[in-house]
This record gives sequence, structure tokens and C-alpha cells, in this order.
Amino acid sequence: MLNGVITRAIRRYFVGQEQEFAFIASPDLVPPVINEADIYVHIPFCKNMCPYCPYNRIKYDQEMVRPFLEALLTEIDCYSKIVGKIRVSSVYIGGGTPTNLLEELGVIIDRIKSKFDLQGDICIETNPNDINRNCVHKLRDYGINMVSLGVQSFDDRYLRYLGRNYRADSIQPAIDLLLSVGFKAINLDLMFALGDQSVVDLVSDLDKAIASGVNQITNYPLFTFPYPTIGEYRKLKRIQMPPLVRRREMYRTTYYHCIENGFQPVSVWGFKRGETSRYSSVTRNHYIGFGPGAGSHVPGLYYLNTFSVPEYIQKCSKGRIPAAMKMEFNEEMERYYWLYWRFYDTFIPRESSNVIFANDKKFKQLIFLLRAFKLCNEDRAGYRLNERGAYWLHLMQNQFSLNYINSIWTAAKKEPWPDKIRF
Ligand code: SF4
Repeated sequence: MLNGVITRAIRRYFVGQEQEFAFIASPDLVPPVINEADIYVHIPFCKNMCPYCPYNRIKYDQEMVRPFLEALLTEIDCYSKIVGKIRVSSVYIGGGTPTNLLEELGVIIDRIKSKFDLQGDICIETNPNDINRNCVHKLRDYGINMVSLGVQSFDDRYLRYLGRNYRADSIQPAIDLLLSVGFKAINLDLMFALGDQSVVDLVSDLDKAIASGVNQITNYPLFTFPYPTIGEYRKLKRIQMPPLVRRREMYRTTYYHCIENGFQPVSVWGFKRGETSRYSSVTRNHYIGFGPGAGSHVPGLYYLNTFSVPEYIQKCSKGRIPAAMKMEFNEEMERYYWLYWRFYDTFIPRESSNVIFANDKKFKQLIFLLRAFKLCNEDRAGYRLNERGAYWLHLMQNQFSLNYINSIWTAAKKEPWPDKIRF
């Protein structure tokens, strides 16, 4: 309650009174014409339904694959008819588990390449269970050059705890297969703050990840979205996070252990070694999302597709954009949305921020606070959050956004075409 009041006050202060914080129904949305964007593709199928997972996923169903593929291709076609063959800087394929649709991925990527002027990387999320020789060669032949492997832990105890459906001894062979085909970047996702997990267990996981040969490690804390339904809650009850003090120690350990082993921070949870570009899913500014539940952010507008897979298929089959709700962004919202993701990157570039926040007193106050609390280091390029800054700012960001995301996603999962979601 108090948290809600404080975050609303902060939101109002930075973004202004005029910005309405609500998604409203937009079943007939026509996306605006833009010149350039990134693309996100959401594949909702999973063979294993992990109980902690907040994403829009459904149990893999062979019968639904063909209609889903047709719908997705139609959505891509509809969108390209509106905007033309615009430049696309990158494609990110997430889910769900995209590699559950291994054969179909080639068709999807070919369609994107034929409809848009793709000039950047193609990134994909994968699961150790799906990685075999055939899979890695197919991904490479489709033109995918950045891969993230959702490992979560190298310890069978924690894999069981998280409800993952593979064993720890299958992980390094999967990584070796990915390494063997020469992807430009391989990210490995880990999770920490797993119930009674100790710092020693955490370091053991980090050491295995560091020794595995990948060039990026992303270590997320297990933060469970506060699901409202009894069924979800029951499944989550056995999954608890350790107290804040231990989580804080675990973050500090991750940060310095990665740095001591030649990795550099590239986001709050991400660490990269070498000169390879960073693998990143969430920090793109303007992007078009295809698939059920996918979000799109274009100048002045954020919108979400319907989360329901059957409704998504039906709407696309009529040749219509499956957007369910939208929120218009005023200029301040656009600026602070940009800044939100720079905080996530742990780096605010000086040149861009000088242009975006020219004469913005509130931005100057924020920088003053970062300096005063010694949360960042400064150089000619910009402001770099240090370990304390990265941790505390992200904790605040989570306070600020997880409840909102939770209320929006909960409503959108319950009702395919919500009228209005205030947050
Ligand atoms: S495989 Fe990934 S997307 Fe699917 S349920 Fe598990 S965590 Fe969620």
C-alpha cells in the first residue's frame, strides 16, 4: 500500500500529470509507420511448465503448431504491409522455448528476412534439453548468431527445486555443441537466491559457468511474480527466496567473482568477457513484437498483443493485427523509459543523455543523487553504476515495476481482450 503510494508519487514527479498509466483496449490498432526497429518474436510453447515462470507460455501441443505458425507469418505479413521493408537492426526470438519449434524457426526467419531489411544479429533462447547436433547446425544455418542457454544451475538439487527437466551432467555437452559451431555470442543464464542455496553453492555454479567456455553469464535472482490464482500460488509455495541480507551477499559475490575471472558487467545481472557484442533481450528501445503476448514499443506508443494463443491465431487468420491494448507515451515518458533501460544497462551514455535530457532539471537531480550516494563512477563516456549502484537501483526498479507488470500480465492472461488495465 505504502509502496504503491510512494511509487505513484515518484512516477508523477518524473513523468508528469498528463501521462495516463493505463492500458486501454485497442482491438483495431493500426501500428504507426516507422523507419527502423528491432523485432521480437514470441514462441509460447514449452514442453516443461516450470512452476516459477511468469512468462506467457502454454504446454507444447503438436496440433497447435501449424495454426500458430500460419498466424505468426500472417502477422509478419500484415505488419510489413503497413510499414514497408524497413530496416531491422536485430531479431530476438524468445518464449516459451523457441527450440521446441526447430523446423518452423527457419520458415519464420526466412519470412522476416524477405519482408524486412535485416541488418543485424539474430538471437535466440534455448534450453539444454533441446540442444543436439542437429539443433545447433540448424540454428547456425538459419543465420542465428547469438544464443542464450537457460541453464539455471549446474546442481541437480536446484534443477529439481526449480522443476527443470534435465540433469546437470547434460549441460556441459550442450554448451560444447553450441561452442562447436562458432556462434558469435553464447550467453548462459543462471539463477541464484534459490531457497537454502549457500554462497558456496553459488560460487560453484559460477565457476562451472566461467569454465564452460561461454562469453557471457547472466545470473538472475529468483524473483517470483506474486501470482493471484490459488493453483499458481500452491505450485510456488515450495519456492522461496532467501532473506534480503543473503541475496545482497550473493549479488556482491557474483559481481566481484565474475570481474576477478575476466568478465565485465554489461547489465545489472549480466557479465561478458572478450570483445564480442553483448547478448541482450530487454534493452532495445523501439521494437515490434510478433506472437501472443508480445509487446511493441514505437515512438509515442506501447502496445501488447493478446496473450491468448487461440485468440491470437483467430485474429491473425482474419488478416488483422492481434493487438489487445495500448498505452500512449508522452515525451517525458519516452525519455524516462529510455533512462529506465540505461539503468538496467548500468551505464548512462553522456552524449545521448545530454541530448535527450537537455535542460531537464529532474535528470540533473538524479545524477546528483547517484554521485552523492556514491552509486556511480564517471568518465568521459558517461555514468557507470558501480556494484552498490547496480544493486540498489535495480532493487528500486523492481519495486517500481514488478507490481505493475504483474497486474498487467495477470489481467492479460485472464482476459484475452481486456477493456482497461490501470496500474
Ligand atoms: S522453459 Fe522457460 S519459458 Fe518455459 S516454463 Fe520453463 S522457464 Fe518458463
